[in-house]
Amino acid sequence: DSDVLLEKLKEEIKDNGLEAEVQALVTGCFGFCEKGPIVKVYPDNVFYVEVTPDDAKEIVQEHLIKGRRVERLLYVEPTLQEKMAVHHDMPFYKKQLRVALRNCGFIDPEDINEYFANDGYLALGTVLSKMKPEEVINEVKISGLRGRGGGGFPTGLKWDFATKYDADIKYVVCNADEGDPGAFMDRSILEGDPHSVLEAMAIAGYAIGARIGYIYIRAEYPLAIERLRIAIDQAKEMGMLGENIFGSGFDFDIELKLGAGAFVCGEETALIRSIEGKRGEPTTKPPFPAESGVWGKPTIVNNVETLANIPVIINRGGDWFKKIGTEKSSGTKVFALAGKINNVGLVEVPMGITLREIIYEIGGGIKNGKEYKAVQTGGPSGGCISAQFLDTPIDYDSLIQIGSMMGSGGMIVLDEDDCMVNIAKFYLEFTVEESCGKCTPCRVGNRRLLEILTKITEGRGTMEDLDLLEELGTTIKDTSLCGLGQTAPNPVLSTLKYFRDEYEAHVKEKR
Ligand code: SF4
Repeated sequence: DSDVLLEKLKEEIKDNGLEAEVQALVTGCFGFCEKGPIVKVYPDNVFYVEVTPDDAKEIVQEHLIKGRRVERLLYVEPTLQEKMAVHHDMPFYKKQLRVALRNCGFIDPEDINEYFANDGYLALGTVLSKMKPEEVINEVKISGLRGRGGGGFPTGLKWDFATKYDADIKYVVCNADEGDPGAFMDRSILEGDPHSVLEAMAIAGYAIGARIGYIYIRAEYPLAIERLRIAIDQAKEMGMLGENIFGSGFDFDIELKLGAGAFVCGEETALIRSIEGKRGEPTTKPPFPAESGVWGKPTIVNNVETLANIPVIINRGGDWFKKIGTEKSSGTKVFALAGKINNVGLVEVPMGITLREIIYEIGGGIKNGKEYKAVQTGGPSGGCISAQFLDTPIDYDSLIQIGSMMGSGGMIVLDEDDCMVNIAKFYLEFTVEESCGKCTPCRVGNRRLLEILTKITEGRGTMEDLDLLEELGTTIKDTSLCGLGQTAPNPVLSTLKYFRDEYEAHVKEKR
């Protein structure tokens, strides 16, 4: 629909002779998926939602020609009609703070000039002209930025490790292998603001002494791939990538590597093997990639969202970034809000915000007025968070304390009609399917865990099975080789802890 709408708008603009002054442009995602397709009219800042191709004529005739807003297409919150002209006053955006998503939905991702006009490549220019590599790393350390892909490892420290090893060649890798069910954070950044990631990779390359970067991206993201290709070509043409960037003597080039859809390839050692053309299987750590990564050379692997923060940290300073969020989790986090929630979409919020604010204020509450039951954060690696934790401030450490994890940012909301045992089974089926099979606890253990869970959901379980789930799940977590196996039992263990009554109900309803 969006493509047809765009064409219709262009036609209407042309047919009415407005082409010289008005343009209809495509941008990346605004985040408010529930209300798409969205049309924003500048400079009036008018935000139209759920626009169909048939509305194009009315928007051009009424708004562009007669200067009257099309009331029926405006996003209207019953009590906030006066505030709707500026979309940041809409409840969906009000509590958001857009750092990683700063340009998404606002610039044409296929035009480098629009990125330039929004401080694009300013940070790279600053770094190459005024900063030593160690100063860049220090600024990232000051910011407190932690990996947004799930692990939460301090980014500055990771970069610093890579400088400790001498090598003729080093690599910067962007992990864009986003595979969690329901997650689309990285995809939106790459589709909406690809240059922010390219710029950050060049900055990282300068900081650690690398001249080559790889973006490992799922082949299932064709639009993101196309926009990255366009962005890389434009950046090379304008001298932002390639040889002697800004006349500094620093060379940096980026290549795309397409992943074939294996979830385990999001794990950094498996991803590195896949880049090398080998089977995507994790390897033991140490050695860590900072010492021995792609083809045995020092390598840093950073997630898309992590990288998208880097230019802002350089431009505004690590101290500025550090002031956002909580003491140990600075900055913002992008979440893909999905499931039984009114405002499905992509949101970016300061760390430390509560689940209640995300679900009820930004998300507009539970669909059809139902009761909140839980939210699954962190995809198949995370856990289910029950109502008692709605007021817990969200950061890396607090989520782990309550048996879940930040993960990459998937947030699936569940209501009173959802069976938590079935939810745990759904995620476990996914991880069993995606296990690479290299180590026994994950390959065999998770399969046994799933068998017990299936037995319970089919009414053949016993109370002893519940204890067995707990014991086996804990053992798998403690003994698996990589993050996939170490976190796979989380959905089972967290639901068992907070919704044990539902497991017991299945057992008692024996057939
Ligand atoms: Fe493979 Fe699972 Fe072992 Fe990771 S934990 S290495 S995915 S079998």
